[in-house]
Amino acid sequence: MTVDVDQPIRDRITALDFQRWRSKVYATGGCAKPVKLAGYGALIAPDGTLLQERAGQIYTPCGNRRETVCPACSHRYAADAFHLLRAGLSGGHKQVPTTVTGHPRVFLTLTAPSFGPVHSRRVTRTGRVIPCGCRERHHADDPRVGAAIDPEGYDYVGAVLWQAHAGKLWHRFVIALRRALAVRLGVPGRLFGHVARLSYAKVAEYQRRGLVHFHAAIRLDGPDGPTDQPPAGLTSEVLREALLEAAGTTLGVCRPDGTEMEIGWGVQLDIRDITTTAAEQIQDADGEISEARLAGYIAKYATKGTGKMEAADRPIRSEYDLAHLELTPHHRKIIETVWELGGLPEYAGLNLRKWAHMLGFRGHFLTKSQRYSTTFRAIRAEQHRFQIGHTLTELGADLDPDQVIVVNDWNVVSIGHRNHAEYELAHAIGERARHLPGEKTRREGHQ
Ligand SMILES: [Zn+2]
Ligand SMILES: [Zn+2]
Repeated sequence: MTVDVDQPIRDRITALDFQRWRSKVYATGGCAKPVKLAGYGALIAPDGTLLQERAGQIYTPCGNRRETVCPACSHRYAADAFHLLRAGLSGGHKQVPTTVTGHPRVFLTLTAPSFGPVHSRRVTRTGRVIPCGCRERHHADDPRVGAAIDPEGYDYVGAVLWQAHAGKLWHRFVIALRRALAVRLGVPGRLFGHVARLSYAKVAEYQRRGLVHFHAAIRLDGPDGPTDQPPAGLTSEVLREALLEAAGTTLGVCRPDGTEMEIGWGVQLDIRDITTTAAEQIQDADGEISEARLAGYIAKYATKGTGKMEAADRPIRSEYDLAHLELTPHHRKIIETVWELGGLPEYAGLNLRKWAHMLGFRGHFLTKSQRYSTTFRAIRAEQHRFQIGHTLTELGADLDPDQVIVVNDWNVVSIGHRNHAEYELAHAIGERARHLPGEKTRREGHQ
């Protein structure tokens, strides 16, 4: 007997409710794991007229930023992250005028220090592969790249403690940076906020060795934020000097054996001036990066997970879970170390086990200072407003989206598609939606 693998898909397509199901999935952009809600929703005009009523089941997107979990939602997240970063660099946004392009702006990369030699693949200018410390020439897809050459000698405890404190180290770095800038302006550190403002957006990117790098767009404003000129003494050169000084910040933590460990940044430090080069000319000069290229990098990092370990997309709840994950030996050792340290009373405050699947990194993928640019919340609210405007146009109602009353009373019924056939069809719907020519312009129209 032969099994017809396409039969469940044909059944779904020929079912009576297919058109309705398809439009619900389409509305989520083809989300891989939509949240199904049941209830009631309505749009009501200011004079009380009922404009639109919806009852029954609707789908909302899962909102996961990882490509391995949901291609549709990760695509949307990347677009929003790009928008958020770009707005802070180029301006032309409600909260950020285009004059910010005249403020000192740099793109900074802070790395993790070394915790032991790892397999690496470096290439010469002419494209020759340089032998690794193990003497082999690794292929780009070699799963050993990033893994410890000598697992016995690699400082896994140190690496995990570093990663668990990376967010705090960043915080210390920002305080030191403000102080270093204040000194250069001749004011006490605590008065920095009266003369200038430091704005930034940073993202965490996992390296193949399992440790994060931080990439940050850093901008100097006047005390009122992006609309305000920074003081004359704060040039790009001054910012560069202050960054170099602040990058020396360290943090003391205790190892499990009671010895003190000093946590700091790696020696590789990259500072680039951000240029306003047009989007078409994105070839960056030495020590410079264009706004377009930078925002593009961010969008690329946005959907990446922790690297070669797609299995650990959700929190690990038990040792049993851990034992059954598909991991490289190096990543497994990191996660096991996180789990072990998480069980020690002295690290209880770090809540490490909750972050084992993130290799001990406890922060958010993207963080930004208050006045950098817009927020994800504002971007989503704007998209929501745009949707309502679109619905009002379709209904022929000449009303401002801000005037109508939106009633939403929905409860979660279930999460995810019913079967693999639905999942595959949703994926195809999402793929198609993302490649429609109107898609990109429509998103940009959301500004
Ligand atoms: Zn989704
Ligand atoms: Zn090697």
